[in-house]
Amino acid sequence: MELTQLDINKIRQEFPTLGEKVHGKDIVYFDNAATSQKPQSVIDRINHYYEHENSNVHRGVHFLSQTATNAYEHTRKLIQSMINAKHEHEVIYTKGTTEGINLVAHSFGEKFIHEGDEIIISYMEHHSNIVPWQLLAERKKAILKVIPVNDKGELLMEEYHKLLSPKTKLVSIVHTSNSLGTINPVKEIIEAARKQGAAILIDGAQVVPHQSIDVQELEPDFLVFSGHKMFAPTGVGVLYGKEELLNQMPPYMGGGDMIDTVSFEKTTFNDLPHKFEAGTPNIAGVIGLGAGVEFINRIGYDYISNREKELLDYGTERFNEIKGMRIIGTAEKKASVISFLLDDIHPYDAGTILDQLGIAVRTGHHCTQPLMKRFEIPGTIRASFAFYNTKEEIDKLVDGLQRVKSMFGKK
Ligand code: PMP
Repeated sequence: MELTQLDINKIRQEFPTLGEKVHGKDIVYFDNAATSQKPQSVIDRINHYYEHENSNVHRGVHFLSQTATNAYEHTRKLIQSMINAKHEHEVIYTKGTTEGINLVAHSFGEKFIHEGDEIIISYMEHHSNIVPWQLLAERKKAILKVIPVNDKGELLMEEYHKLLSPKTKLVSIVHTSNSLGTINPVKEIIEAARKQGAAILIDGAQVVPHQSIDVQELEPDFLVFSGHKMFAPTGVGVLYGKEELLNQMPPYMGGGDMIDTVSFEKTTFNDLPHKFEAGTPNIAGVIGLGAGVEFINRIGYDYISNREKELLDYGTERFNEIKGMRIIGTAEKKASVISFLLDDIHPYDAGTILDQLGIAVRTGHHCTQPLMKRFEIPGTIRASFAFYNTKEEIDKLVDGLQRVKSMFGKK
């Protein structure tokens, strides 16, 4: 689908926050890797649920409960079709990426990880794809191995292949790095792990909002992602898992909805996906997630990724015109994230000045402290673009960075 500049202006108008003023200036929102803005259709859908459908799911025979249940389950179908899962019940709702990883670490870990087993992650993982495995390794006396990265921020694949062995029971890797933008060769990672009989989890937090993922083609055992980075609300996300594995895994949390029968002698558990969805879920969030998926379907991944590639190329070119610019993360395959340092100016100072100009960037370690240590830096300034951003906004950021430099007396 070919959209014109006019169309993008129209689409931008669907996002109320993109029309906000910050410190009297038009907002420039470049913190999309942290969370995306929400279109009116998502906001309206959540309001509609609370105004007309509010009820608990799966439990009532009454009209409202059935309406809410249908809407809640409709999202599952939308997600199934978006990631091309074989079965609807392979889609488990979570609070987000973090909960999805913790669920797998606890449940898969409980059943399949034993003393001396090895788990492989990488240097560029988000803390949420490090700490749950450290905790599991401690509980089970398992060993955590880490794939190093090169100076461009790419995984050293030959090192990965060396780390793999029959002892490897799980490989848990980020598809697209939130702090560098690196897009990892997940197909190769998955195929090599599979040969060793290891299970594979892909952290899809930064890919699902931007690019289509087909789980039957890629064949990860697990894929996790968050709604709030894909135009949907916070507090909701997805764990996709292969039916065969999910069926073998014990429940993560006990409570209502996840049981079949309860007695003090023996409790039996519900089928997938409910086995992993204890308690009253985030019904409004799940329904809002469905509206987020419908929004992506309307715009189309092709349009989203083409626009973001254009913004990345333009941003990289313009940033490189700035003297003292050091881009951290220059992988061949990159998403629309530019992390950088400017002379010796502290990222926090730059971020604060940019904020005064109405420009929202993220500064700090981006929940990837080991990666920052690898690059021997305290953190970066990160501009992460969504398809709704524009080249004019990038120009404003470049002007803002020149202003930051001059305030620090840099040429
Ligand atoms: N992994 C990656 C790559 C991320 O970017 C994030 C969010 N910054 C997470 C995991 C954690 O996601 P959430 O906070 O939504 O659970």
